[in-house]
Amino acid sequence: MTFTVAIVGRPNVGKSTLFNRLVGKRLALVDDQPGVTRDRREGDAYLFDCRFKIIDTAGLEEAFDGSLEARMRRQTERAVEEADLVIMVIDARVGVMPIDEHFAKYLRRGKTPIALMANKCEGKVGEVGLLEAYSLGLGEPIPFSAEHGLGSSDLYDVIKEHM
Ligand code: GDP
Ligand code: MG
Repeated sequence: MTFTVAIVGRPNVGKSTLFNRLVGKRLALVDDQPGVTRDRREGDAYLFDCRFKIIDTAGLEEAFDGSLEARMRRQTERAVEEADLVIMVIDARVGVMPIDEHFAKYLRRGKTPIALMANKCEGKVGEVGLLEAYSLGLGEPIPFSAEHGLGSSDLYDVIKEHM
């Protein structure tokens, strides 16, 4: 069975940008509009000598039944169930938001190993969010920039650790 990594987190934190970087193709739709990735996407990811399956998800919103948010939540739940490792992404420029805490709480209840990624960490503006990330109780955050490709070796170490 292929090692499977699911990328989860609220809309607009950079999940699809991370997915595209790891898959190397513009398979996932990236947009400034939150929640643009309506459909789940899968791809074969490469990170140095590591190969694994990766799942991009829409952001989980606080759910209202029957809504788009509820569908996105189910999608996230399904990806988490399938995954050997979940990468929860936050936006280090914005910091920890209540919805991130909601996510973290949900993920902490499960059995799947979680890696926390503080994305958009390029430059000084990300530093506060990186520190705040510790409060989510998911261990040490990986400082990352999906757009600029910073943090790949830290991500690699975490993935290798769980493979
Ligand atoms: P998703 O909704 O979580 O899938 O987020 P997207 O990948 O669609 O990205 C949302 C926005 O954040 C886009 O405008 C991206 O260009 C931007 N973004 C993604 N990664 C980074 C990053 O590392 N740094 C900065 N500054 N912006 C980023
Ligand atoms: Mg997306």
